Amino acid sequence: MARTAVLGLPRVGPDRELKFALEAFWAGRDDAEALEATARELRRAGWEQAAAAGIDVVPSGDFSFYDQMLDTAWALGVVDGETLEDYFAHARGTATRPPLEMTKWFDTNYHYLVPELRADQPFALRAEHWTGPLREAAALGLMTRPVVIGPYTFLRLSKGTKPPLSALVPVYAELLRELAAAGATEVQLDEPGLALDDVPAAEYAEAFAELTRAPIDLCLATYFAPADPVVFTLPAAELHLDLVRAPQQLGAALRAVTGRLSLGVIDGRNVWAADLDVALERIDAAVAALGTDRVTVAPSCSLLHVPYSAARETGLDAEIRPWLAFRDEKLAELRTLAAALDGDRDALLAPARAVVSARRTSGHTNDPAVRGRAGGLSPADYARSAPFPERHAAQRARVPLPELPTTTIGSFPQTPEIRAARRDLKAGTLAPEAYERFLRAQIAEVVSHQEQVGLDVLVHGEPERNDMVEYFGEQLDGFAFSRFGWVQSYGSRCVKPPILYGDVSRPQPMTVRWWQHAQSLTEKPMKGMLTGPVTILQWSFVRDDQPRGETCTQLALAIQDEVRDLEAAGAFAIQVDEAALREGLPLRRADQDAYVRWAVDAFRLTVATARPDTQIHTHMCYSEFNEMMEHIVRLDADVLSIEASRSDMEVLDAFAGELDYPNEIGPGLYDIHSPRIPSVEELERLLELAERRVGRERLWVNPDCGLKTRGWAEVRPALTHLVAAAQRRRAAV
Ligand code: GLN
Ligand code: ZN
Repeated sequence: MARTAVLGLPRVGPDRELKFALEAFWAGRDDAEALEATARELRRAGWEQAAAAGIDVVPSGDFSFYDQMLDTAWALGVVDGETLEDYFAHARGTATRPPLEMTKWFDTNYHYLVPELRADQPFALRAEHWTGPLREAAALGLMTRPVVIGPYTFLRLSKGTKPPLSALVPVYAELLRELAAAGATEVQLDEPGLALDDVPAAEYAEAFAELTRAPIDLCLATYFAPADPVVFTLPAAELHLDLVRAPQQLGAALRAVTGRLSLGVIDGRNVWAADLDVALERIDAAVAALGTDRVTVAPSCSLLHVPYSAARETGLDAEIRPWLAFRDEKLAELRTLAAALDGDRDALLAPARAVVSARRTSGHTNDPAVRGRAGGLSPADYARSAPFPERHAAQRARVPLPELPTTTIGSFPQTPEIRAARRDLKAGTLAPEAYERFLRAQIAEVVSHQEQVGLDVLVHGEPERNDMVEYFGEQLDGFAFSRFGWVQSYGSRCVKPPILYGDVSRPQPMTVRWWQHAQSLTEKPMKGMLTGPVTILQWSFVRDDQPRGETCTQLALAIQDEVRDLEAAGAFAIQVDEAALREGLPLRRADQDAYVRWAVDAFRLTVATARPDTQIHTHMCYSEFNEMMEHIVRLDADVLSIEASRSDMEVLDAFAGELDYPNEIGPGLYDIHSPRIPSVEELERLLELAERRVGRERLWVNPDCGLKTRGWAEVRPALTHLVAAAQRRRAAV
């Protein structure tokens, strides 16, 4: 019989129990025992539910109080400490010690803590991180498979002067022996790092061979991209491949593997009910080549990245809900696939087939107006009607700005009152009209602050948004919002991504009335503020029945409508934020070019209809542009603002280099990540450094993004200093 397996389970709890238990513990409201009890209960529920769903191989050791990379560092003795407090100190920092750096786990929206290694890094094993849960499950009558981040992935995702891979082999070998002694017959070695470019194949093969000496079956798991071919040559008891992201690897795997093959055929990264016929085609091929006993049916990756139960989402449109599959539904899909191998296929697959065909033919996924508009696009639709020098002249003629014009990136402090008002609106205790009035008053305050501070181009402050995407998703057709669809972002933090299920269009203006109100309060130009198509795409669960690039084009056209309406209302400057453009980069270099092409095209399409004398701004919150410059140039925004304060303006070198970025640029001068208020002198010095690199004519003066995370007590003086610094520089020759 083919078996079913799960690589990892969501752990925050169906009602975010872990989040609340962590917060209670951190605030001192609950003790460690209470937190442990919640964790035990979440683990038990996860295991038992997976087993009850008919999953043969249930994972353990994948649970974490904060993050699996931190856990691995802790269990290998790379970070020190004894207590739970010590553990959290690495994640959250203390008064005297900063936390570990945090970054994205591959191309997911999950963030891990980055261990820092030394060349002569000592290791000291705490095997109980894995043997503990293994025994805990055994006490419940469940045999589980421990999940361990493999040595290559651990090393590759760490920073510092790293030791060679061979230096990690002894501690991993010891762990494997301990797991075997504790009763495990197999272990899942997670090596998504082997699906990246530049894998040191020979070195890995050597390390792996060494590990196979332990008396336990090694199940090597890769996911998120095609695995390096070295995996096909390794003596693994089982090899897991992500056949959702990279189905093309199946043929090579079938010819090469000597052990079991685990087929990742159910998408662990997305929320859609699977086309089981497609999955079965792959499983059938594997069974034909290897025999059922050597086939495992699994999700593509851990289910950490999906919510718990679509069945609970009774508030969703009844037509759309059956299209969704969260953890529970995916477990059921795995069971159906295994049953279909030797059962009555047509009967077993009938419900899933009905869902797939209903979705394919639904009016929601086939809006003729949207399809017609996207289908009729030609290259000219992706370009502004005049080149930058002409636009620049037209813009300066329309609105004369001083040298070194000052502005901000859009948001202003999201005060407790703003958050409370939004909460009350959602709870129904604040009437929509009262909320609207409240926001208008907030905007008036933000405008008056900016006038007093003396900024040149103002913003309305974004009080109506809690993040960059939800506000737009709520107003666009083609999006749905779940009630319980939380997924872990980092530690106790969860996000509830919008679900982009259908053809996207914008029934009516989304931001124009806020802009009009704000502009009516000032003579200064008021910048319109929109989130770009790539960022909306990147932070949503996106339909999987057409290429992402096509969905992005639809989003671009919807936002273009808003650009047009803002312009018609009189907006001189419109900013289209693409905070997530870079984070959408595919993991493998071979796929990156195609992505950047359609992503940049989507931005160009969004703003292409703007008149030459309308100033288009964009913002990107990162500072590594070197390999991206050619694409950044192709965005052709009139003004680009970037994160820069922490690099002492060195990031501007990329803009002054060979390519000589031709348009205007605003490096963030004030690091909003810190509560510190920079002095005028300090800002003036940064500005001088910036001028030296790109020249005063092209420079804007602005802070980094994220003023919404700070308080007014910091923002006001910081911006006052910023304006003063700009004034001093203008006066300097
Ligand atoms: N306009 C947004 C803001 O100022 C941009 C946020 C971002 O880029 N992350 O908050
Ligand atoms: Zn930003």
